Amino acid sequence: MFLGYGRLSAMHEFTPEVEALAKEVLAYSLERLKSDPPLDGPRSAEDLFNEVGNTITAKGLGGQKALEVFTEVLAKACISTDHPRNLAFIPSAPSEFANLFDLVVGASALYGGSWQEGAGAVFAENQALRWLSDLAGLPQSAGGVFVQGGTIGNLSALVVARAEARKKFPDTKRFAVACSEEAHSSIVGAASVMDVDVLKIATDEDGKLQGEAVGDAIDKLHANSEVRVFAVVATSGTTNLGIIDNLESVGKAAHDRGIWFHVDGAYGLAALCAPSVRPLFKGVEAADSFIVDPHKWLFAPFDACALVYRDPKLAKDVHTQHASYLETLQDESWNPSDYAIHLTRRVRGLPFWFSLAAHGVDAYTEAMERSLTVAKQAAELVKKHPNLELFREPELSIVAFTRKGWEKSDYQKWSDKLLADQIGFIPPSSHEGKPILRFAIVNPWTKISDIEMILATL
Ligand SMILES: *Cc1c(COP(=O)(O)O)cnc(C)c1O
Repeated sequence: MFLGYGRLSAMHEFTPEVEALAKEVLAYSLERLKSDPPLDGPRSAEDLFNEVGNTITAKGLGGQKALEVFTEVLAKACISTDHPRNLAFIPSAPSEFANLFDLVVGASALYGGSWQEGAGAVFAENQALRWLSDLAGLPQSAGGVFVQGGTIGNLSALVVARAEARKKFPDTKRFAVACSEEAHSSIVGAASVMDVDVLKIATDEDGKLQGEAVGDAIDKLHANSEVRVFAVVATSGTTNLGIIDNLESVGKAAHDRGIWFHVDGAYGLAALCAPSVRPLFKGVEAADSFIVDPHKWLFAPFDACALVYRDPKLAKDVHTQHASYLETLQDESWNPSDYAIHLTRRVRGLPFWFSLAAHGVDAYTEAMERSLTVAKQAAELVKKHPNLELFREPELSIVAFTRKGWEKSDYQKWSDKLLADQIGFIPPSSHEGKPILRFAIVNPWTKISDIEMILATL
């Protein structure tokens, strides 16, 4: 008899042991959802090893013990990205519904790569994508897929853009992607993967990329070299300061020259659902592709980036993988695998879909307007603060400022202490070499009193 039979059955059957563990897992998950999480913070690998040792063993720790190692030690060595005073980078704020539904997705072994295997789930994901596409004003024929993050979204879109440029300009020796100095690091990363150049274009004095500068820079490059721009990327808004490029003029500069127009809205395009700032995105409707991360400012858990193409057929031609074992899938049905650089995929858009379907879109508008209001109020408090200088009026929900008389090391010391004291998590950033602090407010539960608490330490 197979010696491992007992262990194997515990791995694949709902034994009493599994049932007991299920209760503990659910109890922990519910507790995590119910009570405000502490901020927590990192520990060194050495320190963690001294406490938990090697957790991978021949006989296994057993479910309860492994869960305990996680809940008592490892989870506490992870910063809570959804804490209302975690204003670092771009934090997260998944809704309770979205988090709960993530448990359902985890329990369901759904395959999100093809219509044949995941039709119902893909149908739901596509409705969520449709909502975003409609907000942006793209045609009904637009469509796309949820990918892991903005980095993969940008790369996947740019690969399609280059394929288009190759069709139009087959003799081109070398391609370049154009973007501003403030574009996200993933654009340079994509260019490096694709082995293309990056044409960085200066922004205006307000930090925005303008169509005129884009047109001039491209014309100059084309006149003086063999390098041809295959895509223009506008950012809406930038990760550091939340600045929205002039989408209308940048899109026109691209299209006047037959060039693909991509909008990187990983953080900011979420605010398309907020009427108070919707006009700032004028011009997004001309995008050939755009991305927005529901895991940033649309109350979804990690990891989900919505990637939408004006003409998804172009993406399908580029991204569909061909193999004898996949041919059976290649018909007219909508296979999410065909629209980005991936094959097997989790239906990562489903927690977002569930929350949106359950709450309705008005709740999203309200939550979005709330974080925009808190950002405005925070900017006012910074202006009144005797030691602080507001760096720039926030356009969206990122509030950047400096502390009078502080060096780079003072900012870091303050930030380290803020986390050690469990008040907040706000690592310093910089702009043009000068240190700044920034609040990235994407959590509707971040209240002005949270901001006051942080400002009192400055
Ligand atoms: C966060 C961000 C990205 C990268 O997204 P990931 O989901 O972290 O991969 C790209 N562009 C902008 C503007 C961003 O803010």
